[in-house]
Amino acid sequence: MTGLYTIPLIGLKEGKHTFEFGIGNKFFDGFEDSEIKEGDLRAHVLLEKGSACINLRIVISGAVKISCDRCLEFFMQKVECENNIILKTGHDTDEGDPEIIFVPFSSHEFDLSQLFYEYIHLALPLRRIHPDGKDGRCGCNPDMIARLESHRAENENKQMNELKKLLNNN
Ligand SMILES: [Zn+2]
Repeated sequence: MTGLYTIPLIGLKEGKHTFEFGIGNKFFDGFEDSEIKEGDLRAHVLLEKGSACINLRIVISGAVKISCDRCLEFFMQKVECENNIILKTGHDTDEGDPEIIFVPFSSHEFDLSQLFYEYIHLALPLRRIHPDGKDGRCGCNPDMIARLESHRAENENKQMNELKKLLNNN
């Protein structure tokens, strides 16, 4: 996917530039370990080139398909995030500032896909559950919840029976 999500570093005039990128299912195909397999987002990149560095403001909005923690069904999770990052040419000075990325002098362009990927994942809520329906009721699939509940009860029964067997044998 090289080239699709890159911004030019050479030939860019000082000042402000904007770039727009569409992030769809193909984007996530490029990351094998991605928890997200489908999505529909837009990235709006505001670039400001100064004499010594490039400031980037990356605004991503849209939705991604993830699995619900409660009913295990997939749903579309809204994603809105805004991040700032600075690009500097040269070698990493070990300052350890996560907001600064050092790019080699010879780079003609910079690939944003890794940043997009990280920002989208960071924007996901810790607990992923279906948003409530318009009527305020739980948005989860009731059939799946019922099935998971009975499965849990079954497992508990099994464990109880095994425990009983153990106790009776001693
Ligand atoms: Zn759910």
